[in-house]
Amino acid sequence: MPILRLLSETETLALPPRAAPVAARCDVLVIGGGPAGMGAALGAAWAGADVILTERQAFLGGNPTVALVNPLMSWHTQRKPPAAADMTRLLPQDHGEGDPIVAGALQHVLDRLLAAGGALPPTVETGYTVPFDPETYKSVALEVLDEAGVRILLHAFATDVCRRDGRPRGVIYESKSGPFVIQAGCIVDGSGDGDIAVKAGADFAIGRSEDGRVQPMTLMFRIGDFDPDAFAAYVRQNPDQWRGVHGLWDLIRQATESGELDLPREDILFFATPHPHELSVNSTRVTGMLGTSIFDVSRAEIEARRQMGQIMGFLRRRVPGFAHAYVIQAGTHIGVRETRRIVGDYTLTAEDVLGAAKFDDGIARASYPVDIHNPTGKGTVLKRLPPGAWYDVPLRCLLPRGVENLLVGGRCISGTHEAHSSYRVTPTAMATGQAAGVCAALAARQGLRTREVASEAIRTELRRQGAIL
Ligand SMILES: Cc1cc2nc3c(=O)[nH]c(=O)nc-3n(C[C@H](O)[C@H](O)[C@H](O)COP(=O)(O)OP(=O)(O)OC[C@H]3O[C@@H](n4cnc5c(N)ncnc54)[C@H](O)[C@@H]3O)c2cc1C
Repeated sequence: MPILRLLSETETLALPPRAAPVAARCDVLVIGGGPAGMGAALGAAWAGADVILTERQAFLGGNPTVALVNPLMSWHTQRKPPAAADMTRLLPQDHGEGDPIVAGALQHVLDRLLAAGGALPPTVETGYTVPFDPETYKSVALEVLDEAGVRILLHAFATDVCRRDGRPRGVIYESKSGPFVIQAGCIVDGSGDGDIAVKAGADFAIGRSEDGRVQPMTLMFRIGDFDPDAFAAYVRQNPDQWRGVHGLWDLIRQATESGELDLPREDILFFATPHPHELSVNSTRVTGMLGTSIFDVSRAEIEARRQMGQIMGFLRRRVPGFAHAYVIQAGTHIGVRETRRIVGDYTLTAEDVLGAAKFDDGIARASYPVDIHNPTGKGTVLKRLPPGAWYDVPLRCLLPRGVENLLVGGRCISGTHEAHSSYRVTPTAMATGQAAGVCAALAARQGLRTREVASEAIRTELRRQGAIL
């Protein structure tokens, strides 16, 4: 398929200078309506700030809704190593989870999702993950932000910063209405890619230290008309076909040998949803592409759709329970796991994660394993924290080195490739976003630089907002 590639990295044209209207002013301006952006907007608004949240898509949620990333991974410590966890809820469970270590904004959103019938609660049956309905999630996101008094603007692509006194004091947007500016006391970059932090002058790292390669992208999709009883009967008769959340080994091997399946993944991974006849499939894999290049992303979207077609054909033809299944919806945007990691005042490491490090300026707790989908092909590395353990994310990871008036939250905070693979999950992204929002609110309302806000003041406000610290 002919896909447009960049003609030249070096041949450029100067663009004409232009003016843009100031659309609004606020205390805290948040870029991105994903888990980090939602956490930041709620944290800042609950801390008393006048907040604007801007999002490039037509709806809020980030990866969980844009890329259909389901479920919310567990935010509980593990009491003991997990036995076979079955996300399809068709086999006995023994995930051995301990205590919750994230609450605050996440708990608020979860309570509303549950009340709306749009999620399953975290129990031993779901492996302490939370399967949710993405359309309900979109509505709940709007409702909770509206109730917190956050002003929302959709279809707004943030492209650059405006400076005053050398510091970022506003963000430039491109839109159908043309360019415009929003001015702010303090900015939180929840774009996942650190788009605006980089424009403000922040350094960043990409990928593995040895070769710069990042985790693969995955186009997730929802399947309807799945027959759980027929599938359960098949699994009961063929228990050796199902280990952990991965399975269908013989069927996949046969289909691969016959050329029916040609996938850079050795298994087919799917998750239960709140709807018994619906599954969420996380099995396409596109390597060697970067999510901040639309040229790469375009190629990745097309390749992932090819894989989705193969997977659906395979499931329908070969796997009991899928004969009438069909794709309800694929992600609006292919799921991007890893792009820029902004270099902050501290860089979190795998040793910090696996050694359950604690910090005086800890603003969020996390316990999800190091989980690296192979950047070059098949296989996934999974390294768990010890039973009962969690690590702290320090405030310094949210403060881009050498940049004032701007914080990052979510998957683009400061850490190594390995540490990122743990703190990137949705619950942790929302928690670091909430902390960034609180710091931004305290700075903007008291006229302080971000680094002048005492970490203990942020921790106190986060606790008041229900965070577990
Ligand atoms: C395939 C895949 C599977 C995953 N599986 C799981 C899982 O099972 N469970 C789990 O908990 N986590 C999972 N994750 C991780 C998790 O989904 C993300 O890391 C998490 O969503 C990060 O949140 P974030 O807010 O930092 O970034 P994002 O979710 O990427 O949100 C960023 C938001 O900012 C917007 N944005 C970006 N740039 C701009 C801009 N310039 N201007 C305006 N808006 C902008 C985007 O549209 C988006 O809404 C998975 C991720 C992927 C890709």
